[in-house]
Amino acid sequence: TRAGLNLRGLIRTIPDYPKPGIMFRDITTLLADRAGLRAAIDELIWPFLGADIVHVVGIEARGFILGGAVAHELGLGFIPIRKKGKLPYKTIGQDYELEYGVDTVEIHADAIQPGDRVLLVDDLVATGGTADAAIDLIRKSGGEVVAACFIIDLPDLGGAARLRGKGVTVHTLVG
Ligand code: IMP
Repeated sequence: TRAGLNLRGLIRTIPDYPKPGIMFRDITTLLADRAGLRAAIDELIWPFLGADIVHVVGIEARGFILGGAVAHELGLGFIPIRKKGKLPYKTIGQDYELEYGVDTVEIHADAIQPGDRVLLVDDLVATGGTADAAIDLIRKSGGEVVAACFIIDLPDLGGAARLRGKGVTVHTLVG
């Protein structure tokens, strides 16, 4: 980073979590580090300083932590995308494929106004399935996804390329 910090070194990899063969990237160690958290948020927001954006949309749950800080720093409002059944008001939903089965993400039906330009935030992009569903939700709401940003990209899984294929700018910090 410009702060001279090694973000990668603050992220922990846990082998065989949550299942054998999976190398889980654990950002709790980065979040707990005051200089690390500051640098991560600074690096996430710099391309969007002064951009024409009205909301930050964060994906449950780590996208809430990062998205809240990003929204605050950019002086924007925050909108949550949550797993099915968690939002209290009227929602719009989008199903997406998991390795085994299907999951659903939801957004409040009135959260985004037609034409709203938003920035999507999550901690990590793997296959891109979750962010893809989030982008579809924002678009169904009439919003425009200016970019999607993540701390970690797992490029072998092709998620960033998948999102770029949907016409979304992707900004990631650690490959
Ligand atoms: P995707 O939908 O395959 O791109 O997976 C990304 C989603 O799963 C994000 O919401 C991540 O928070 C979560 N995820 C997948 N793998 C990891 C990991 O290794 N560490 C932390 N979160 C992960």
